[in-house]
Amino acid sequence: MAFYLLLSAPAFLAGANNSHSFVIRNARVFDGHKVLSPADVWVEDGKIKALGTSLKVPSDLKTIDASGDTLLPGLIDSHTHAWGDALKEAEIFGVTTELDMFTDAKYMRQIKKEQAEDKDLDLADLRSAGTLATAPGGHGTEYGIQVPTLSSPAEAQAWVDARVAEGSDYIKIVIDDASAYGGHRPTLSNETLKALIDAAHKRGKLAVVHIGTQRDAHDAIAAGADGLAHLFSDSAPTPDFARFVAAHHAFVVPTLTVLEGVGGTASGASLTTDARLAPYLTGDDIGNLKRSFPKFPTAPSEKYAEQGVAQLKAARVPVLAGTDAPNPGTSHGASIHRELELLVRSGLTPVEALAAATSVPATAFHLDDRGTIRPGKRADLLLVKGDPTKDILRTRDIVSVWKLGVEDDRASYRASIEKAKQESAKAAQMAPPSGAEMGLVSDFEDGSPKTRFGTGWMLSTDSIAGGKSTGEMKIVEGGADGGKHALDISGVIDGALPFAWAGVMFSPGAEPFGPVNLSSKKNISFFAKGDGQTYRVLVFTASGGRIPAQQTFAAGADWKKTSIPFSAFNGTDGHDISAILFVGGPAAGKFDFQVDDVRLE
Ligand SMILES: [Zn+2]
Repeated sequence: MAFYLLLSAPAFLAGANNSHSFVIRNARVFDGHKVLSPADVWVEDGKIKALGTSLKVPSDLKTIDASGDTLLPGLIDSHTHAWGDALKEAEIFGVTTELDMFTDAKYMRQIKKEQAEDKDLDLADLRSAGTLATAPGGHGTEYGIQVPTLSSPAEAQAWVDARVAEGSDYIKIVIDDASAYGGHRPTLSNETLKALIDAAHKRGKLAVVHIGTQRDAHDAIAAGADGLAHLFSDSAPTPDFARFVAAHHAFVVPTLTVLEGVGGTASGASLTTDARLAPYLTGDDIGNLKRSFPKFPTAPSEKYAEQGVAQLKAARVPVLAGTDAPNPGTSHGASIHRELELLVRSGLTPVEALAAATSVPATAFHLDDRGTIRPGKRADLLLVKGDPTKDILRTRDIVSVWKLGVEDDRASYRASIEKAKQESAKAAQMAPPSGAEMGLVSDFEDGSPKTRFGTGWMLSTDSIAGGKSTGEMKIVEGGADGGKHALDISGVIDGALPFAWAGVMFSPGAEPFGPVNLSSKKNISFFAKGDGQTYRVLVFTASGGRIPAQQTFAAGADWKKTSIPFSAFNGTDGHDISAILFVGGPAAGKFDFQVDDVRLE
């Protein structure tokens, strides 16, 4: 699971008014459960007003003729990790609701606040677990997000109450000792698992459990879990597995696409060559979709999970479509189309697969206002060419996506992706900027924040994204390695934004953010010292779009050299780098650090 830092506001205002009204005529309608013959759907003020044939509507109402097309409820991805541009990407591909299964609680609150103000109409609607429940050192603690862990059942109720106070919509619990992949990791005891589930139920919240093995799945269901956030792929399901789940009235989000990645197959590779999807994928998404997890000591097989899906279907267990984006082999939005394909490969009919991404999750998560096309429901809609109820791959042939009746501007998004790809390709053809050959960016010995090539160092804060963090840079005496000067960066991080930052930025090209080819270099190296806090290097690339990749470094009392390979920044080869930053944040408070001898080597 890769996490990204957002450097511009997540909310593009799609227009604060959602009073868009229109009628879609002659569409084949999949209403969330079944297929209706050609019908009209009348949308008013962001909701579905009527559904029927030859609907009588006001004569000036905008009419969309959808003959030959299929109208579906907006898709629901029941397992994601939302961050950065996730919700924008999701909506582009027809996913109008993401059920997040662990993210930064601050990010969750920020998005929910915007949603409550009717902003974010161009972003998928977010429901979120916020922080997850895991053991100290357990799965979920490895991503750089602070996770309050649990060691005993006695801590369960207070832990759950803290999540409820933060705004979590449901409780996500991790049971995984890594044995499914031949590893070892601490995990919660069955007693703590049970106590967490009971505590969640006491507060009226669903408890959804991440499991590794079939054994874990059995334990979670026995403990009263409402749903499993994954199926297992360590062993073939026992003949009574699905009946056991059915008897406990639980649902399952198999996440076949991520289990393919765990098994060593790049699940999303075929999406990157699908002409219906590829023009909407960023360079970074394409890279991630072609990736799988590193080889594990024991290789799990997604075939076991596919057998599990067939069994669950036979036992009438609710199966929900979820991707676990943005894990290796996945990306937000696009991967739901792969998951639907894999659910059909496992034995679901196309109609059952479509229900798994619409009405079934709406019922399982008590989202009563969506998931079906019925009068009174949200006008979260997806219009596609052809008939996905016969050929599931047709969900990729998207005509339009609406959230609360507001159509997503897919054409502009596609144009921005195209422009970034052209800039990236152009940069790859360029020679390195003159002055870059020696590799030195700055040693600050001339007493200025100049750089040997590019724009020079300049201040960068989250104020451009509506934040209140402040920063200051100045040349100070006493550089690294006996040098005379260094660059000092200080300020105050305001904790309001989940991605708060303040620091310095350098663009290696003549223009700020103009990408240049630095593929002849392999590393960024620099000396740093400071107040003992952890700081970040951010790298923007043209192919990565608006979201930079980041790595952290410590700045202690003495000068210390840090060298980070370009490849650590989302796998870039350096051919289209547009900016490099040293910043404090996102934790709130004062900060002060110095850098010197910044080099690209
Ligand atoms: Zn996950």
